Amino acid sequence: MEPPHQWEYRRRVGQVTEARQVVIVGSGPAGLTAAIYASRAQLSPLVIEGEPSSTSDQPGGQLMLTTEVENFPGFVNGIMGPELMQVFREQAARFGTDYVTAKVTRVDLSARPFGLWVGDPEATEPSYRADALIVATGARSLMLNLPSEERLLGYGVSTCATCDGFFFRERDIAVVGGGDSALEEALFLTRFADSVTVIHRRDRLRASKVMQQRAFAHPKISFRWNTVVEDVLGESKVSGVTLRDVVTDEVSTLEIAGLFVAIGHEPNTSLFKGQLDLEDNGYVRTFDGTRTNVEGVFACGDVQDHEYRQAVTAAGSGCMAAIGAERWIEEQTGGI
Ligand code: NAP
Repeated sequence: MEPPHQWEYRRRVGQVTEARQVVIVGSGPAGLTAAIYASRAQLSPLVIEGEPSSTSDQPGGQLMLTTEVENFPGFVNGIMGPELMQVFREQAARFGTDYVTAKVTRVDLSARPFGLWVGDPEATEPSYRADALIVATGARSLMLNLPSEERLLGYGVSTCATCDGFFFRERDIAVVGGGDSALEEALFLTRFADSVTVIHRRDRLRASKVMQQRAFAHPKISFRWNTVVEDVLGESKVSGVTLRDVVTDEVSTLEIAGLFVAIGHEPNTSLFKGQLDLEDNGYVRTFDGTRTNVEGVFACGDVQDHEYRQAVTAAGSGCMAAIGAERWIEEQTGGI
């Protein structure tokens, strides 16, 4: 498998606006599944896949930040996240999907065909025009922003217990956060781990009462209150964390094999603010499957799903978005 930085990237050159029937923004499981379906429907989709330099908009999405994926159906022995995304990418390319490696800097959804800019957002003419647009820009996990956390992401640092919990059988691990996500992750991880320490920066939880009761009652879960993670320890994999008590300033070390960061997620929707209806929590509002409030614009994957956030559910909604776009284009043209 070629690592992502060796993928053959096509960069945009020239200023002429390119017209497409379908443009897909985002190249995680949702965007690329939409691309497979749209290309098989002969809609010649263009995927604007993000920038490889970025940790949140990188081509391939969040799976590029994980190691082994064992719960994606079809891979008996599991598959590495980046390799899975490479397979998706090649499968969509096989049916005629084109890729451009760039970040969308502006969209205009006020008139059809929709306008999309890459590069200079102030340019008068858009880089692309699209009859139908599929938004698959995903979400990002909020992180602690420690260099050691970034270095060990996928090597003991994780943002997904459902994905990675299995790798920590009979190990001691920790979860950072005090919300429902943190407790949900902690409770799930008790199936595998010997012990789960919840590290929270305050002395009380934000999580719902019922989750708190469950976590407090669980014999494998303990809490470190008023505590922040200062450093993640380990050369090639996590061996522990340095903690600081924010009340006493006392510094200590906790030996753990895994650190799950569960301090919330943020959908990548800033590009669409004021143009697409968003939920109160910032996710794109969808109805009748993957339709948005703007006709001809569909949203799929984590950008519109804050509940399941799985590669397989994202892929499923990518399929729905492409079929939605195909039917919508058919309606506009009175049949292809
Ligand atoms: P959340 O409710 O915003 O909680 C985030 C937690 O992380 C808070 O405890 C916060 O601390 C902590 N935190 C934030 N930034 C931090 C940082 N830089 N360092 C250390 N700690 C930090 O997020 P969430 O838990 O992901 O939940 C999001 C929404 O989804 C909520 O409405 C939640 O109820 C819902 N949800 C529901 C379920 C369920 O019902 N089963 C499961 C998951 C999520 P503070 O408390 O000090 O702010």
